[in-house]
Amino acid sequence: QAVIVAIDGPSGTGKSSTSKAVAAKLGLSYLDTGAQYRAITWWMVSNDIDITDPSAIAAVAGKPEIVSGTDPAEPTITVDGTDVAGPIRTQEVTSKVSAVSAVPEVRARITELQRALAASAPAGIVVEGRDIGTTVLPDADLKIFLTASPEARAARRSGELKGADINATREALVKRDAADSSRKTSPLAKADDAVEVDTSDLTLQQVIECVVTLVEE
Ligand code: C5P
Repeated sequence: QAVIVAIDGPSGTGKSSTSKAVAAKLGLSYLDTGAQYRAITWWMVSNDIDITDPSAIAAVAGKPEIVSGTDPAEPTITVDGTDVAGPIRTQEVTSKVSAVSAVPEVRARITELQRALAASAPAGIVVEGRDIGTTVLPDADLKIFLTASPEARAARRSGELKGADINATREALVKRDAADSSRKTSPLAKADDAVEVDTSDLTLQQVIECVVTLVEE
């Protein structure tokens, strides 16, 4: 019986590190849905689509072919066959991804990919994102909602970005969360039946153990 784990929450809560480690530990597949939204955003930017115009985005939402490799030891992402793992992490993509992922046609397209990957994972899958427990996989066996204080999140993100200004990082994070939480189509939200874990004062190891225990219960 395949096990489906949904891990949602804003960025900087340790979502990716936790999800990858839990999947590896339990022998499950792993899907980073943020990477998919970043990939389609990268394609829009690369093709000079006006991302301030939702109808322009909607018109081409079906064009790029986005393929995710779901091995937690080596997750991959390609757009039309090009490896975009690096380019999807630039500040330009990060600052534009909320606008692109708010477009319903984009969400419909990406949600379809996500459900197909979840359904075909041999042992099951850990899927991380913003709307997995509420919209993409509402029947998941376990739903986790990770939170952390804005300070803890900004500190983690600046650490990852190696020396980026912490105040600017916090501002950008808060702005992106506000956009992700306020969009009309499947916003960032905690499912009613999700277990909330505040990671502010926990080490990554503690969060991983907590989630593994919940899966095994
Ligand atoms: O997780 P990450 O920070 O890489 O996500 C990038 C962006 O992708 C989010 O800020 C959000 O706009 C979008 N996203 C989404 N739904 C998801 C995952 C990510 O809208 N399930």
